[in-house]
Amino acid sequence: MLRLKDGENLVAYFSMEIGIDPQIPTYAGGLGVLAGDTLRSMADLGIPAVGVTLLSEDGYFNQTINEEKGQIESFERWPFDRYLDRLPQEITIQTGKYNIFVRIWRYTVTGIHGGKVPILFLDTDYDKNDAQLRKITQRLYPVNKVLRLLQEVVLGVGGYKALEAVGYKPTVYHLNEGHSAFLTLEFLDRVRSNTAIEDPYEYVRSKCVFTTHTPVPAGHDTFDPGILEDNLEGYDLLKTIPNAFDDDGKLNMTKLALSMSNKVNGVAKEHAAVSRKMFPHHTISAITNGVHHTFWTSPPFQEIFNEYIPGWYDDPFALRSALNIPDYRIRQAHCQNKKILNKYIKDHTLVEFDEKTITIGFARRITKYKRPDLIFYDLEKLNYIAKRFPIQIVFAGKAHPEDKVGKSIIKEILNLNGKLSSRIKFVFLEGYDINLAKKIIPGVDVWLNTPKRPLEASGTSGMKAAINGVPHLSVLDGWWIEGYIEGTTGWSIGPKPSPDGYEKEDVDADDSDDLYFKLREVILPMYYHNKAQFTKIQKQAIALNGSYFNSHRMVQQYILKSYLG
Ligand SMILES: *Cc1c(COP(=O)(O)O)cnc(C)c1O
Repeated sequence: MLRLKDGENLVAYFSMEIGIDPQIPTYAGGLGVLAGDTLRSMADLGIPAVGVTLLSEDGYFNQTINEEKGQIESFERWPFDRYLDRLPQEITIQTGKYNIFVRIWRYTVTGIHGGKVPILFLDTDYDKNDAQLRKITQRLYPVNKVLRLLQEVVLGVGGYKALEAVGYKPTVYHLNEGHSAFLTLEFLDRVRSNTAIEDPYEYVRSKCVFTTHTPVPAGHDTFDPGILEDNLEGYDLLKTIPNAFDDDGKLNMTKLALSMSNKVNGVAKEHAAVSRKMFPHHTISAITNGVHHTFWTSPPFQEIFNEYIPGWYDDPFALRSALNIPDYRIRQAHCQNKKILNKYIKDHTLVEFDEKTITIGFARRITKYKRPDLIFYDLEKLNYIAKRFPIQIVFAGKAHPEDKVGKSIIKEILNLNGKLSSRIKFVFLEGYDINLAKKIIPGVDVWLNTPKRPLEASGTSGMKAAINGVPHLSVLDGWWIEGYIEGTTGWSIGPKPSPDGYEKEDVDADDSDDLYFKLREVILPMYYHNKAQFTKIQKQAIALNGSYFNSHRMVQQYILKSYLG
């Protein structure tokens, strides 16, 4: 059994994106924020770990919003030398065609008891590489397939070599999503030359842990054999790995990671079940995601937790006793958060939100399966509800620059303003990122989540809401299937995913109907006429969900079930 504290043991955590510091924009959304929360929890818990990612000199992109044009993207270098230390080591990667030079930067996460988790940021953008290779680590998720392949080669192969060059000796490699799966190839190549190891494949598998993150097919990278032939030196070795290729001959990075990892996890129970159907040859367990509780708790709630739940910093399970906090303190803290958000809205859009009117929030990556427009499905019904109860709605989120459908949804939503009743105030805030998430999520009264079942693997923003006493109104998918108790921690929209895994194609009408029903008959009457009941739900969200859906619990489960197991 591994001993995690003897200095010999080390978890290497690989992720294409990591959202570790609001000033370091090397993340696109939930995947990167989860990676950041994971490493924050490891540092707090004193787990010996090291993160590996790409520098992404231009981050993801900056978003501005224009009523006519929709989303406008711009790219800007972030001042990485201000936040990261350049290490003296450099590595080279030979691919079929190229020699890629990689330099290494380091950032250190410090936990509450001084535990340190370094993160290595890999960078090809310097004078030793020609212009084409310098682009490899420029931006997250390029659509150009060659660039994307080289990016994954730098992350996986380069990451393996960088750890070695700097002197880290991992005992566990954790692949956060399939992007880093080439590390198993480099690892396998080393192990093969060690004659003391009988079964190199099994050896590598015994040290690799893989987390798969999405049931959306486009979320699983594939590469044509031609591109691999030209750009991957280990292609012949790759061909010896069983089950890594799709039927059409393409390499599937998820399948490679599955084939080379003994421990595989989905990010919520339902997601693991869906993944088992997608990849029936593998054993896939579930470790449900969590969020870093202190990072995501707003200052007003930190203050009352410090007062009523001493020790919650170390032990988020203690948040169970949020039920003991007096109602008026919860309302005061929430009201402070609402004021902060309302001021931000006024400063950035000139729209004045009212403190007494209910605010519904929706902010996340804008893409079709998340159905950002579901609440606007039938404007007549929505406007009718607003006749009885005034409503404020705040939106934010970026669409990938190449996601045409996502971008058209943003445009559509921006053009709604003229069609909404005067009793509905609506704003779309530009530039969604960690800082904005920290303002929007705690500052609304209800957090809305309307993905198409069963495509939301977990979702984490609803957990951030729960910890700040903001009830969740969500489709039953991802973590919410585990977190919802109807009318106790929040509310559901629509049915549970069907047990046979087949969903009706067109559920938007039914789901929006149920959403309108919940707003009209349950949530809005309670908010306006039964404050005590609403506050009770806020406290129950903290006590039942904040205490469980946090990354301290998640990391502890990874250690017990995957790293040590
Ligand atoms: C938490 C978070 C997400 C993930 O949101 P989901 O609703 O879980 O998809 C995306 N972006 C940012 C900036 C976040 O903080």
